[in-house]
Amino acid sequence: MPEPDWRSQRLMAHLPQQVTVYEVGPRDGLQNESTPVSLDAKVRFIDALADAGLKWIEATSFVNPKLVPQLADASELMRTIKRRPGVRYVALVPNERGMHLALEAGVDAIAVFTAASEAFSQANVRASIDETFLRFAPVAELARAHNVWLRGYISTAFHCPFSGPVAPQAALDVTERLLALGCHEVVISDTIGRATPRDTDALLQLAVQRLPMDRVAFHLHDTFDLALCNVMLALEAGVRVFDGAAGGLGGCPFAPGAPGNLATEKLVALLHGMGIATDIDPQAVANAGRAVRAML
Ligand code: MG
Repeated sequence: MPEPDWRSQRLMAHLPQQVTVYEVGPRDGLQNESTPVSLDAKVRFIDALADAGLKWIEATSFVNPKLVPQLADASELMRTIKRRPGVRYVALVPNERGMHLALEAGVDAIAVFTAASEAFSQANVRASIDETFLRFAPVAELARAHNVWLRGYISTAFHCPFSGPVAPQAALDVTERLLALGCHEVVISDTIGRATPRDTDALLQLAVQRLPMDRVAFHLHDTFDLALCNVMLALEAGVRVFDGAAGGLGGCPFAPGAPGNLATEKLVALLHGMGIATDIDPQAVANAGRAVRAML
């Protein structure tokens, strides 16, 4: 066999054998959809994702049902899905009230969300970044008290639809604050899918110096088909958790121009093609996403 060239040697040295794929379709994929999806259809979607091999599924969100009517059935959904052993069903919560509802519904893990851009934070939750941290303090305390795993999203970590490019330092400052709050994992999110590989590289160069990379996840949108390029850079920098939404579902109701999330099946196909295991069947994920898309 010929010797691998310098590039493949460099790649091989930095690629892991296994990556965790975190599915956001039922929450991030559906929250923006105006066509109501029935409880039954959501349960079937979540069960199909677990069947496809996903071990982390963000199932719903305990936000104000007036703001996100699609997810008003969060409590009922959490009680109706069949909990598969080995699968963690996560719920997004915006505040202490949502946290109490989530705990009552018996979620396995919680996600909170803030932003790297003040303009986006105001538009999304009508609060400054500092104010979102005030809301999270009791959530994090409850998570600790109940031994619930906590994930923290940093929205608009690269680009804000209202105020433009976001400095990597600003994104990492917020990321460090979420870690200090007690988040087990922080999710650097390209909410509107505007990050180029250069933007991603600039953020990662700082991230490897400042963050524990084994606690960093990436959440990408595929606006200009650049999500997988950014996945490659993040893999080389040590990121081992990537979000996807089956069928590329979703956008963001408060982020004009936000297209779908990176499709889970595309992400998994790339990883498998690179010899990285995920234990996920990309075809089954694509089918699950298609079934939901047909209802929208
Ligand atoms: Mg998203």
